[in-house]
Amino acid sequence: MYKILKKETVAPQVEAMIIDAPYIARHHQAGNFVVLRIDEKGERIPLTIADADSEKGTITLLFQKIGKTTEKLGTLKPGTAIRDIAGPLGHATPILQYGHCVLVGGGIGSATLYPILKALNKKNNRVTVILGARTSDLLVWGDRFKALSDEVLFTTDDGSSGLKGLVTGALKDVMDKSEVKIVIAVGPIRMMQAVAELTKPYNIKTLVSLNPVMVEGTGMCGACRVTVGGKTRFACIEGPEFDAHEVDFHVLADRLEFYREEEQESMKLFKKKKCKRNCKK
Ligand code: NAD
Repeated sequence: MYKILKKETVAPQVEAMIIDAPYIARHHQAGNFVVLRIDEKGERIPLTIADADSEKGTITLLFQKIGKTTEKLGTLKPGTAIRDIAGPLGHATPILQYGHCVLVGGGIGSATLYPILKALNKKNNRVTVILGARTSDLLVWGDRFKALSDEVLFTTDDGSSGLKGLVTGALKDVMDKSEVKIVIAVGPIRMMQAVAELTKPYNIKTLVSLNPVMVEGTGMCGACRVTVGGKTRFACIEGPEFDAHEVDFHVLADRLEFYREEEQESMKLFKKKKCKRNCKK
């Protein structure tokens, strides 16, 4: 059992949870993720580790309440516990002395970049962070990123904070002005695809963290199949980060749609049950 120590709403429908998980905290490296199960009958879901404190033995998970399991996770209170958390899983982000690195985060995907920023910082890289969201409320952990980066650029689709427009506009400006050695992007598929298309003609090494459907996270079930460089790869054990210029984003998007109807049905049933318990007639 993994005790929830703290829970905080960081944006509408987005929660951050600090969880007691000493083994995972001690072995965590930037880019790793966990697979959790709320209770014995629970669905297994992957979540990237947004932060870890090896001394305190805690990890921080950020999640958007978009499906039955994340909605249920959001109802858990500090003091209660999560049944299983397997991890740290996946390959760590390759952290070298690159020079100028650009981290691009879209929406909730941004928090995933925080451990990568910390690790690049330790290697004395120059790091520019570009964080984009639809509107200012949805920009997460801006202050944390500011504290550790050389430069943070915020973009919002509606112009309510930072530059008006998409992250790719800001990225193009940075690449035009400076010799960027690596771009790491995490966020919605169409954003990662747009980043890949943008950096390719500049010949800049670009990594994206993929988020396919995942079940057990150790390479046995094959649910997380992705196509990279024309070959089938398992995101859980061979990723989750891959060369963005080799990823087939259409296959990834199609596979994510595969269980959409079942996911919606499950969410409807969960909300109905929750309402039966809580709504006064
Ligand atoms: P969103 O749709 O609101 O987009 C966030 C930002 O991404 C936008 O403001 C924009 O700047 C950029 N963007 C979106 N579409 C773009 C395009 N076509 N071209 C260029 N830029 C574009 O995002 P959201 O609703 O917050 O969703 C976050 C996504 O992050 C989810 O899809 C989630 O699955 C994903 N995510 C991924 C990981 C991971 O590890 N890969 C982790 C957490 C979340």
